[in-house]
Amino acid sequence: MPKPTRALVAGNWKMNGLRGSLKEVRLLAGMLNGVSLNCDILVCPPATLLPSMASLVRGTRIVLGGQDCHSAQAGAHTGDISAAMLKDAGAKACIVGHSERRSDHGEGDDLVQAKASCAHDSGLTAIICVGENLQQRESGETLDVVTRQLIGSIPASATSGNTVIAYEPVWAIGTGLTAMPQQVAEVHAGIRAKLCEILGDEEGDSVRILYGGSVKPSNAVELMGTDEVNGALVGGASLKAADFIGIIKAYA
Ligand code: PGA
Repeated sequence: MPKPTRALVAGNWKMNGLRGSLKEVRLLAGMLNGVSLNCDILVCPPATLLPSMASLVRGTRIVLGGQDCHSAQAGAHTGDISAAMLKDAGAKACIVGHSERRSDHGEGDDLVQAKASCAHDSGLTAIICVGENLQQRESGETLDVVTRQLIGSIPASATSGNTVIAYEPVWAIGTGLTAMPQQVAEVHAGIRAKLCEILGDEEGDSVRILYGGSVKPSNAVELMGTDEVNGALVGGASLKAADFIGIIKAYA
């Protein structure tokens, strides 16, 4: 059966980063020079930095992504950004359904699905995030929650080429708490089985499934070596090149 061959290490800067932070990407590009790696590298800065970062990473191994997009490509939606705009600014991918969007903005699966579909229509890879909160984990609902989110959030346009799933237990995001490798392996196996059901075995087996939630250089090798983990979605530790390279090197 085909398996995802190349991992993806993605950095999500969230609402962090001014123009001065571009130097971190310049540094990272330098650190990557001459290092042989078995992973792709994505940085998702705030939208304000996309165009300048796009010129900076041209010719390097760093690819850019957006952190969210609207479910329409254009129109009267003050303050929002469309997938077409992200693409135009130099992005190749877009995160959708991050738990911070789901909780801060009340985004549900239907909306996440529409956003992922828009990302696909613009030629972007959709990184669809799923994950349970602490109460759901403690009451044994983790797999039900994640399965429900997958079924509701994956659009009909999804293929292994244009879709990545990020499993991010909400209780592990930005808290310093990391899921145990065995917990991660269990959920990733469940996600893989569900992807095969939704997309068929061949496509489902080839979709990359990332783990996210307090990934740092000190735990990256163990987490990235866990069954069915095909990369990481990294928040805090992606802001500094020196930390992010420590995670990327799990694939050196
Ligand atoms: P964190 O965030 O690495 O800071 O925990 C992960 C994420 O939200 O993508």
